[in-house]
Amino acid sequence: MHRHDPLIAHLADRALEYSLDRIRMDPVPLDAPKSYDELLTTVGQTITADGIGGDRALQLFIDVLAPACISVDHPRFLAFVPGAPTEASVIFDMVVSASSIYTGSWLEGAGAAFAENQALRWLADLAGFPNSAGGVFVSGGTAGNLSALIAARHRWRLRAGGRLDRVRGIMIASGGAHSSVAQAAHAMDADVVAAPTDERGRLDADAVATVLSGLSESDRERVFAIIATGGTTNLGVVDDLDGIARICSAENIWFHIDGAYGLAALCAPSVRHLFDGIERADSFIVDPHKWLFAPYDSCALVYRNIHDGRRAHTQRAEYLDVLHGGEAEEGPWHEMNPADVAHHLSRRARGLPLWFSLATHGTRAYTEAMETTLTVAREAAAAIRSRPNLELLLEPDLSILVFRRIGWTPEQYQRWSDDQLNTGQSFVVPTSWKGETVLRFCIVNPRTTMGDFTDILDSLDTTP
Ligand SMILES: *Cc1c(COP(=O)(O)O)cnc(C)c1O
Repeated sequence: MHRHDPLIAHLADRALEYSLDRIRMDPVPLDAPKSYDELLTTVGQTITADGIGGDRALQLFIDVLAPACISVDHPRFLAFVPGAPTEASVIFDMVVSASSIYTGSWLEGAGAAFAENQALRWLADLAGFPNSAGGVFVSGGTAGNLSALIAARHRWRLRAGGRLDRVRGIMIASGGAHSSVAQAAHAMDADVVAAPTDERGRLDADAVATVLSGLSESDRERVFAIIATGGTTNLGVVDDLDGIARICSAENIWFHIDGAYGLAALCAPSVRHLFDGIERADSFIVDPHKWLFAPYDSCALVYRNIHDGRRAHTQRAEYLDVLHGGEAEEGPWHEMNPADVAHHLSRRARGLPLWFSLATHGTRAYTEAMETTLTVAREAAAAIRSRPNLELLLEPDLSILVFRRIGWTPEQYQRWSDDQLNTGQSFVVPTSWKGETVLRFCIVNPRTTMGDFTDILDSLDTTP
Protein backbone atom coordinates (compact mmCIF):
# COMPACT_ATOMS: atom_id res chain seq x y z
CA MET A 1 0.00 0.00 0.00
CA HIS A 2 1.96 2.91 -1.32
CA ARG A 3 0.76 6.33 -2.39
CA HIS A 4 2.23 6.00 -5.84
CA ASP A 5 1.26 2.39 -6.33
CA PRO A 6 -0.08 2.05 -9.92
CA LEU A 7 -2.63 -0.42 -8.61
CA ILE A 8 -4.06 2.28 -6.34
CA ALA A 9 -4.25 4.70 -9.27
CA HIS A 10 -6.12 2.06 -11.24
CA LEU A 11 -8.54 1.40 -8.37
CA ALA A 12 -9.04 5.12 -7.89
CA ASP A 13 -10.03 5.45 -11.55
CA ARG A 14 -12.46 2.57 -11.30
CA ALA A 15 -13.97 3.69 -8.00
CA LEU A 16 -14.37 7.26 -9.22
CA GLU A 17 -15.86 6.08 -12.47
CA TYR A 18 -18.40 3.96 -10.61
CA SER A 19 -19.17 6.78 -8.20
CA LEU A 20 -19.69 9.33 -10.96
CA ASP A 21 -21.87 6.89 -12.90
CA ARG A 22 -23.99 6.32 -9.79
CA ILE A 23 -24.25 10.07 -9.16
CA ARG A 24 -25.38 10.68 -12.77
CA MET A 25 -27.78 7.73 -12.96
CA ASP A 26 -31.32 8.75 -13.77
CA PRO A 27 -33.31 6.89 -12.75
CA VAL A 28 -31.36 5.06 -10.08
CA PRO A 29 -32.20 1.36 -9.68
CA LEU A 30 -34.62 0.61 -6.83
CA ASP A 31 -32.93 -2.72 -5.98
CA ALA A 32 -33.96 -5.09 -3.18
CA PRO A 33 -32.38 -7.04 -0.34
CA LYS A 34 -31.15 -10.60 -0.67
CA SER A 35 -30.92 -13.30 1.95
CA TYR A 36 -27.74 -14.12 3.81
CA ASP A 37 -27.50 -17.47 2.03
CA GLU A 38 -27.86 -15.93 -1.41
CA LEU A 39 -25.18 -13.37 -0.62
CA LEU A 40 -22.85 -15.94 0.85
CA THR A 41 -23.24 -18.16 -2.19
CA THR A 42 -22.51 -15.34 -4.61
CA VAL A 43 -19.93 -13.36 -2.67
CA GLY A 44 -18.18 -16.01 -0.66
CA GLN A 45 -15.47 -15.15 1.85
CA THR A 46 -13.84 -11.85 1.03
CA ILE A 47 -11.58 -11.35 4.02
CA THR A 48 -8.55 -13.53 3.58
CA ALA A 49 -4.91 -13.42 4.61
CA ASP A 50 -3.77 -12.36 1.14
CA GLY A 51 -6.78 -10.23 0.25
CA ILE A 52 -8.97 -10.84 -2.79
CA GLY A 53 -7.72 -7.69 -4.51
CA GLY A 54 -9.39 -4.34 -4.97
CA ASP A 55 -10.62 -5.09 -8.48
CA ARG A 56 -12.51 -8.14 -7.34
CA ALA A 57 -13.83 -6.50 -4.18
CA LEU A 58 -15.06 -3.48 -6.14
CA GLN A 59 -16.67 -5.72 -8.74
CA LEU A 60 -18.46 -7.68 -6.03
CA PHE A 61 -19.74 -4.43 -4.59
CA ILE A 62 -20.95 -3.20 -7.97
CA ASP A 63 -22.48 -6.50 -9.11
CA VAL A 64 -23.83 -8.01 -5.91
CA LEU A 65 -23.57 -5.96 -2.75
CA ALA A 66 -24.84 -2.58 -3.96
CA PRO A 67 -27.84 -4.13 -5.79
CA ALA A 68 -28.72 -5.87 -2.52
CA CYS A 69 -29.28 -2.45 -0.96
CA ILE A 70 -32.42 -0.43 -1.70
CA SER A 71 -31.61 3.01 -3.13
CA VAL A 72 -33.03 5.55 -0.69
CA ASP A 73 -32.88 8.20 -3.38
CA HIS A 74 -35.19 6.32 -5.75
CA PRO A 75 -38.20 8.59 -6.41
CA ARG A 76 -40.55 5.72 -5.49
CA PHE A 77 -38.79 4.91 -2.21
CA LEU A 78 -41.60 6.24 -0.02
CA ALA A 79 -41.20 3.96 3.01
CA PHE A 80 -39.76 4.95 6.42
CA VAL A 81 -37.94 8.23 5.74
CA PRO A 82 -36.04 8.22 2.45
CA GLY A 83 -33.26 10.59 1.43
CA ALA A 84 -32.46 12.53 -1.71
CA PRO A 85 -28.91 13.89 -1.54
CA THR A 86 -27.94 16.49 -4.12
CA GLU A 87 -25.16 15.61 -6.52
CA ALA A 88 -23.10 18.40 -4.98
CA SER A 89 -23.45 16.94 -1.48
CA VAL A 90 -22.50 13.44 -2.62
CA ILE A 91 -19.48 14.66 -4.54
CA PHE A 92 -18.35 16.58 -1.50
CA ASP A 93 -18.82 13.57 0.74
CA MET A 94 -16.09 11.97 -1.37
CA VAL A 95 -13.91 15.06 -0.90
CA VAL A 96 -14.37 14.87 2.87
CA SER A 97 -13.23 11.25 2.85
CA ALA A 98 -10.18 12.07 0.77
CA SER A 99 -9.16 14.97 3.00
CA SER A 100 -8.29 13.14 6.23
CA ILE A 101 -9.76 15.83 8.43
CA TYR A 102 -10.41 15.34 12.12
CA THR A 103 -13.22 17.66 13.13
CA GLY A 104 -13.44 17.04 16.85
CA SER A 105 -11.37 20.09 17.73
CA TRP A 106 -10.87 23.60 16.41
CA LEU A 107 -7.12 23.06 16.66
CA GLU A 108 -7.18 20.22 14.16
CA GLY A 109 -10.25 21.00 12.04
CA ALA A 110 -10.74 24.78 12.18
CA GLY A 111 -11.52 25.20 8.49
CA ALA A 112 -14.01 22.37 8.37
CA ALA A 113 -15.65 23.42 11.63
CA PHE A 114 -15.94 27.02 10.37
CA ALA A 115 -17.84 25.83 7.29
CA GLU A 116 -20.01 23.39 9.24
CA ASN A 117 -20.88 26.19 11.65
CA GLN A 118 -22.09 28.41 8.80
CA ALA A 119 -24.48 25.64 7.75
CA LEU A 120 -25.62 25.28 11.36
CA ARG A 121 -26.08 29.06 11.58
CA TRP A 122 -28.43 28.93 8.58
CA LEU A 123 -30.60 26.52 10.55
CA ALA A 124 -30.29 28.57 13.75
CA ASP A 125 -31.37 31.68 11.85
CA LEU A 126 -34.35 29.87 10.33
CA ALA A 127 -35.35 29.00 13.89
CA GLY A 128 -34.82 32.57 15.12
CA PHE A 129 -32.12 31.56 17.60
CA PRO A 130 -29.89 34.25 19.17
CA ASN A 131 -26.12 34.75 18.75
CA SER A 132 -25.40 32.40 21.63
CA ALA A 133 -26.66 29.49 19.52
CA GLY A 134 -24.41 26.81 18.13
CA GLY A 135 -24.16 23.11 17.69
CA VAL A 136 -22.63 20.24 15.87
CA PHE A 137 -23.39 17.56 13.31
CA VAL A 138 -23.78 14.11 14.85
CA SER A 139 -24.53 10.78 13.22
CA GLY A 140 -28.32 10.87 13.35
CA GLY A 141 -31.43 11.88 15.19
CA THR A 142 -30.91 9.20 17.80
CA ALA A 143 -27.50 10.61 18.72
CA GLY A 144 -28.81 14.17 18.50
CA ASN A 145 -31.74 13.59 20.83
CA LEU A 146 -29.54 11.80 23.34
CA SER A 147 -26.95 14.60 23.33
CA ALA A 148 -29.58 17.33 23.72
CA LEU A 149 -31.31 15.50 26.56
CA ILE A 150 -28.03 14.88 28.38
CA ALA A 151 -27.40 18.65 28.17
CA ALA A 152 -30.91 19.30 29.48
CA ARG A 153 -30.37 17.07 32.46
CA HIS A 154 -26.96 18.59 33.13
CA ARG A 155 -28.41 22.10 33.28
CA TRP A 156 -31.23 20.92 35.54
CA ARG A 157 -28.78 19.39 37.99
CA LEU A 158 -26.41 22.34 37.79
CA ARG A 159 -29.19 24.78 38.66
CA ALA A 160 -30.13 22.67 41.68
CA GLY A 161 -26.61 23.10 43.04
CA GLY A 162 -26.03 19.41 43.73
CA ARG A 163 -29.38 18.72 45.38
CA LEU A 164 -30.63 16.64 42.41
CA ASP A 165 -27.40 14.92 41.45
CA ARG A 166 -28.71 11.54 42.55
CA VAL A 167 -32.31 12.08 41.57
CA ARG A 168 -33.65 10.22 38.54
CA GLY A 169 -34.94 12.73 36.01
CA ILE A 170 -38.21 12.79 34.12
CA MET A 171 -38.80 13.89 30.55
CA ILE A 172 -42.26 14.55 29.21
CA ALA A 173 -42.95 13.50 25.63
CA SER A 174 -45.97 12.55 23.60
CA GLY A 175 -46.94 9.06 22.53
CA GLY A 176 -46.09 10.22 19.01
CA ALA A 177 -42.46 10.91 19.96
CA HIS A 178 -39.85 8.91 18.07
CA SER A 179 -38.55 5.70 19.64
CA SER A 180 -35.14 7.32 20.07
CA VAL A 181 -36.55 9.47 22.88
CA ALA A 182 -37.44 6.38 24.92
CA GLN A 183 -34.06 4.95 24.00
CA ALA A 184 -32.31 8.10 25.27
CA ALA A 185 -34.24 7.80 28.53
CA HIS A 186 -33.16 4.18 28.74
CA ALA A 187 -29.51 5.07 28.18
CA MET A 188 -29.74 7.90 30.71
CA ASP A 189 -31.69 5.88 33.26
CA ALA A 190 -34.40 8.53 33.21
CA ASP A 191 -38.18 8.19 33.09
CA VAL A 192 -40.50 9.27 30.29
CA VAL A 193 -43.95 10.47 31.21
CA ALA A 194 -46.19 10.24 28.16
CA ALA A 195 -48.54 13.11 27.45
CA PRO A 196 -51.70 12.22 25.55
CA THR A 197 -52.12 13.52 22.01
CA ASP A 198 -55.26 14.78 20.33
CA GLU A 199 -57.12 12.74 17.72
CA ARG A 200 -54.65 13.88 15.04
CA GLY A 201 -51.71 12.63 17.09
CA ARG A 202 -50.63 16.15 18.05
CA LEU A 203 -49.26 17.12 21.45
CA ASP A 204 -50.67 20.43 22.67
CA ALA A 205 -49.98 22.76 25.57
CA ASP A 206 -53.08 21.70 27.53
CA ALA A 207 -51.96 18.08 27.55
CA VAL A 208 -48.52 19.08 28.82
CA ALA A 209 -50.03 21.35 31.48
CA THR A 210 -52.33 18.54 32.62
CA VAL A 211 -49.44 16.12 32.93
CA LEU A 212 -47.38 18.65 34.91
CA SER A 213 -50.20 19.49 37.29
CA GLY A 214 -50.87 15.79 37.83
CA LEU A 215 -47.34 15.18 39.15
CA SER A 216 -46.56 15.17 42.86
CA GLU A 217 -44.36 18.02 44.05
CA SER A 218 -41.31 15.79 44.21
CA ASP A 219 -41.96 14.34 40.75
CA ARG A 220 -42.53 17.82 39.35
CA GLU A 221 -39.04 18.71 40.53
CA ARG A 222 -37.67 15.72 38.60
CA VAL A 223 -38.84 17.04 35.24
CA PHE A 224 -35.79 18.21 33.29
CA ALA A 225 -37.08 18.33 29.71
CA ILE A 226 -40.20 18.51 27.61
CA ILE A 227 -39.87 17.10 24.12
CA ALA A 228 -42.04 18.13 21.21
CA THR A 229 -41.83 16.69 17.74
CA GLY A 230 -41.60 18.92 14.69
CA GLY A 231 -43.05 16.39 12.27
CA THR A 232 -43.75 12.97 13.81
CA THR A 233 -42.20 10.10 11.92
CA ASN A 234 -45.34 8.05 11.45
CA LEU A 235 -47.83 10.82 10.67
CA GLY A 236 -45.79 13.95 9.94
CA VAL A 237 -47.72 15.93 12.54
CA VAL A 238 -46.17 19.03 14.14
CA ASP A 239 -46.85 19.46 17.86
CA ASP A 240 -48.06 22.76 19.34
CA LEU A 241 -44.56 24.20 19.62
CA ASP A 242 -45.71 27.69 20.59
CA GLY A 243 -47.95 26.54 23.43
CA ILE A 244 -45.40 24.06 24.76
CA ALA A 245 -42.68 26.73 24.56
CA ARG A 246 -44.80 28.98 26.76
CA ILE A 247 -45.13 26.30 29.41
CA CYS A 248 -41.43 25.51 29.33
CA SER A 249 -40.51 29.20 29.79
CA ALA A 250 -43.00 29.65 32.61
CA GLU A 251 -41.88 26.45 34.36
CA ASN A 252 -38.20 26.84 33.60
CA ILE A 253 -37.94 23.47 31.90
CA TRP A 254 -35.66 22.67 28.95
CA PHE A 255 -37.63 22.61 25.69
CA HIS A 256 -36.25 20.22 23.07
CA ILE A 257 -37.74 19.83 19.61
CA ASP A 258 -37.11 16.61 17.71
CA GLY A 259 -37.33 17.67 14.10
CA ALA A 260 -35.19 14.92 12.60
CA TYR A 261 -37.61 14.59 9.69
CA GLY A 262 -39.81 17.68 9.72
CA LEU A 263 -37.72 20.67 10.76
CA ALA A 264 -36.19 20.71 7.29
CA ALA A 265 -39.41 22.45 6.32
CA LEU A 266 -38.38 25.48 8.39
CA CYS A 267 -37.12 26.90 5.08
CA ALA A 268 -40.53 26.47 3.41
CA PRO A 269 -42.74 29.56 3.72
CA SER A 270 -45.96 27.59 3.10
CA VAL A 271 -45.59 25.68 6.38
CA ARG A 272 -43.26 27.91 8.41
CA HIS A 273 -46.12 28.99 10.71
CA LEU A 274 -46.42 25.41 12.00
CA PHE A 275 -43.05 25.88 13.69
CA ASP A 276 -43.88 29.13 15.51
CA GLY A 277 -42.47 28.86 19.02
CA ILE A 278 -39.26 27.13 17.94
CA GLU A 279 -37.45 30.42 18.62
CA ARG A 280 -37.97 29.72 22.33
CA ALA A 281 -36.66 26.15 22.31
CA ASP A 282 -33.44 25.27 24.15
CA SER A 283 -32.39 22.79 21.50
CA PHE A 284 -33.55 21.17 18.30
CA ILE A 285 -32.33 18.56 15.87
CA VAL A 286 -32.87 18.05 12.15
CA ASP A 287 -31.37 15.33 9.95
CA PRO A 288 -29.91 16.62 6.68
CA HIS A 289 -29.85 12.96 5.55
CA LYS A 290 -33.65 12.92 5.62
CA TRP A 291 -35.22 15.97 4.00
CA LEU A 292 -32.29 18.35 3.54
CA PHE A 293 -30.75 16.61 0.56
CA ALA A 294 -27.50 15.39 2.13
CA PRO A 295 -26.04 11.87 2.30
CA TYR A 296 -25.82 9.68 5.41
CA ASP A 297 -25.02 10.22 8.10
CA SER A 298 -25.90 13.63 9.37
CA CYS A 299 -27.95 15.23 12.12
CA ALA A 300 -27.70 18.92 12.95
CA LEU A 301 -27.97 19.45 16.71
CA VAL A 302 -28.47 23.11 17.63
CA TYR A 303 -28.52 24.58 21.14
CA ARG A 304 -30.00 27.96 21.92
CA ASN A 305 -26.97 28.45 24.18
CA ILE A 306 -23.97 26.50 23.00
CA HIS A 307 -22.50 26.58 26.49
CA ASP A 308 -25.27 24.30 27.74
CA GLY A 309 -23.91 21.69 25.37
CA ARG A 310 -20.29 22.39 26.26
CA ARG A 311 -20.82 22.09 30.02
CA ALA A 312 -22.52 18.72 29.63
CA HIS A 313 -20.30 17.09 27.05
CA THR A 314 -16.69 18.29 27.21
CA GLN A 315 -14.35 15.38 27.80
CA ARG A 316 -11.36 16.06 30.04
CA ALA A 317 -8.16 14.07 29.80
CA GLU A 318 -4.49 14.81 30.09
CA TYR A 319 -3.95 14.45 26.37
CA LEU A 320 -6.92 16.72 25.58
CA ASP A 321 -6.14 19.59 27.98
CA VAL A 322 -4.36 21.54 25.26
CA LEU A 323 -7.72 21.90 23.45
CA HIS A 324 -9.46 23.76 26.24
CA GLY A 325 -7.48 26.96 26.58
CA GLY A 326 -9.55 29.73 25.09
CA GLU A 327 -13.12 28.74 25.86
CA ALA A 328 -15.52 31.57 26.45
CA GLU A 329 -17.70 30.98 29.48
CA GLU A 330 -20.73 32.67 27.93
CA GLY A 331 -21.84 34.39 24.73
CA PRO A 332 -21.01 33.43 21.17
CA TRP A 333 -18.18 30.96 20.98
CA HIS A 334 -16.77 30.88 17.52
CA GLU A 335 -13.80 28.61 17.98
CA MET A 336 -15.62 25.81 19.70
CA ASN A 337 -14.48 22.22 19.57
CA PRO A 338 -17.27 20.30 17.84
CA ALA A 339 -16.49 17.32 20.05
CA ASP A 340 -17.36 19.32 23.15
CA VAL A 341 -21.07 19.73 22.56
CA ALA A 342 -22.36 16.19 21.97
CA HIS A 343 -21.83 12.63 23.13
CA HIS A 344 -18.83 11.84 20.94
CA LEU A 345 -15.18 12.70 20.45
CA SER A 346 -13.60 11.72 17.11
CA ARG A 347 -15.79 12.83 14.28
CA ARG A 348 -15.98 13.07 10.53
CA ALA A 349 -16.77 16.52 9.12
CA ARG A 350 -20.18 15.17 8.26
CA GLY A 351 -21.71 18.62 7.97
CA LEU A 352 -19.56 19.52 4.98
CA PRO A 353 -21.66 17.79 2.29
CA LEU A 354 -24.63 19.93 3.38
CA TRP A 355 -22.43 23.01 3.59
CA PHE A 356 -21.02 22.49 0.09
CA SER A 357 -24.43 21.92 -1.41
CA LEU A 358 -25.86 25.00 0.33
CA ALA A 359 -22.88 27.07 -0.78
CA THR A 360 -23.21 25.74 -4.34
CA HIS A 361 -26.94 26.16 -4.83
CA GLY A 362 -27.86 28.88 -2.35
CA THR A 363 -30.58 28.66 0.26
CA ARG A 364 -33.30 29.73 -2.18
CA ALA A 365 -32.86 26.45 -4.06
CA TYR A 366 -33.53 24.63 -0.77
CA THR A 367 -36.73 26.56 -0.24
CA GLU A 368 -37.82 25.73 -3.78
CA ALA A 369 -36.98 22.02 -3.47
CA MET A 370 -38.83 21.87 -0.17
CA GLU A 371 -41.92 23.54 -1.63
CA THR A 372 -41.76 21.11 -4.57
CA THR A 373 -41.99 18.11 -2.25
CA LEU A 374 -44.75 19.77 -0.21
CA THR A 375 -46.74 20.52 -3.37
CA VAL A 376 -46.48 16.99 -4.70
CA ALA A 377 -47.48 15.69 -1.26
CA ARG A 378 -50.63 17.87 -1.34
CA GLU A 379 -51.43 16.71 -4.86
CA ALA A 380 -50.92 13.07 -3.91
CA ALA A 381 -53.24 13.63 -0.92
CA ALA A 382 -55.87 15.00 -3.31
CA ALA A 383 -55.42 11.99 -5.61
CA ILE A 384 -55.95 9.62 -2.67
CA ARG A 385 -59.07 11.55 -1.62
CA SER A 386 -60.47 11.27 -5.14
CA ARG A 387 -60.25 7.47 -5.32
CA PRO A 388 -63.25 5.54 -3.99
CA ASN A 389 -61.18 2.54 -2.80
CA LEU A 390 -58.82 4.72 -0.75
CA GLU A 391 -59.31 6.87 2.32
CA LEU A 392 -56.90 9.59 3.42
CA LEU A 393 -56.78 9.32 7.21
CA LEU A 394 -55.22 12.66 8.04
CA GLU A 395 -54.79 15.99 6.30
CA PRO A 396 -51.01 16.25 5.99
CA ASP A 397 -49.12 18.93 7.95
CA LEU A 398 -45.97 18.21 5.95
CA SER A 399 -45.16 15.44 3.46
CA ILE A 400 -46.31 12.20 5.11
CA LEU A 401 -49.58 10.67 3.91
CA VAL A 402 -51.38 7.92 5.77
CA PHE A 403 -54.27 6.22 4.05
CA ARG A 404 -56.46 3.13 4.03
CA ARG A 405 -57.07 0.75 1.13
CA ILE A 406 -60.68 -0.03 1.88
CA GLY A 407 -61.31 -3.72 2.44
CA TRP A 408 -57.74 -4.96 2.68
CA THR A 409 -56.41 -7.22 5.41
CA PRO A 410 -52.93 -6.72 6.91
CA GLU A 411 -51.75 -9.72 4.82
CA GLN A 412 -52.99 -8.09 1.62
CA TYR A 413 -51.17 -4.87 2.41
CA GLN A 414 -47.98 -6.85 3.01
CA ARG A 415 -48.36 -8.91 -0.18
CA TRP A 416 -48.91 -5.78 -2.23
CA SER A 417 -45.87 -4.12 -0.65
CA ASP A 418 -43.63 -7.15 -1.25
CA ASP A 419 -44.82 -7.37 -4.82
CA GLN A 420 -44.11 -3.68 -5.45
CA LEU A 421 -40.53 -4.10 -4.22
CA ASN A 422 -39.87 -7.42 -5.91
CA THR A 423 -41.03 -6.11 -9.27
CA GLY A 424 -39.05 -2.88 -8.87
CA GLN A 425 -42.18 -0.72 -8.84
CA SER A 426 -41.89 1.07 -5.53
CA PHE A 427 -40.88 0.73 -1.91
CA VAL A 428 -43.90 1.45 0.27
CA VAL A 429 -44.49 -0.44 3.51
CA PRO A 430 -47.56 -0.67 5.72
CA THR A 431 -47.66 1.12 9.06
CA SER A 432 -50.27 1.20 11.76
CA TRP A 433 -52.64 3.98 12.67
CA LYS A 434 -54.75 3.62 15.82
CA GLY A 435 -54.00 -0.09 15.74
CA GLU A 436 -55.09 -0.58 12.13
CA THR A 437 -52.73 -1.61 9.32
CA VAL A 438 -52.66 1.18 6.72
CA LEU A 439 -50.32 2.58 4.08
CA ARG A 440 -47.92 5.45 4.44
CA PHE A 441 -46.00 7.60 1.96
CA CYS A 442 -43.09 9.74 3.13
CA ILE A 443 -42.11 12.22 0.43
CA VAL A 444 -38.73 13.96 0.60
CA ASN A 445 -37.48 13.60 -2.96
CA PRO A 446 -38.07 16.52 -5.35
CA ARG A 447 -37.81 13.98 -8.19
CA THR A 448 -40.94 12.14 -7.07
CA THR A 449 -43.71 13.15 -9.48
CA MET A 450 -47.47 12.80 -9.66
CA GLY A 451 -46.86 10.19 -12.37
CA ASP A 452 -45.17 8.05 -9.71
CA PHE A 453 -48.19 8.34 -7.45
CA THR A 454 -50.65 7.61 -10.25
CA ASP A 455 -48.83 4.34 -11.01
CA ILE A 456 -48.66 3.33 -7.36
CA LEU A 457 -52.28 4.24 -6.64
CA ASP A 458 -53.42 2.40 -9.80
CA SER A 459 -51.69 -0.73 -8.55
CA LEU A 460 -53.89 -0.62 -5.46
CA ASP A 461 -56.95 -1.30 -7.64
CA THR A 462 -55.95 -4.96 -7.93
CA THR A 463 -56.22 -6.97 -4.74
CA PRO A 464 -53.16 -9.19 -4.25
C1 LIG B 1 -35.73 9.48 11.99
C2 LIG B 1 -36.10 10.13 13.27
C3 LIG B 1 -35.27 10.03 14.39
C4 LIG B 1 -34.05 9.16 14.39
O1 LIG B 1 -33.10 9.67 13.53
P1 LIG B 1 -31.88 8.73 13.02
O2 LIG B 1 -31.11 9.66 12.16
O3 LIG B 1 -32.51 7.60 12.28
O4 LIG B 1 -31.15 8.28 14.24
C5 LIG B 1 -35.61 10.72 15.52
N1 LIG B 1 -36.73 11.47 15.56
C6 LIG B 1 -37.56 11.60 14.51
C7 LIG B 1 -38.77 12.46 14.62
C8 LIG B 1 -37.27 10.93 13.32
O5 LIG B 1 -38.11 11.03 12.28
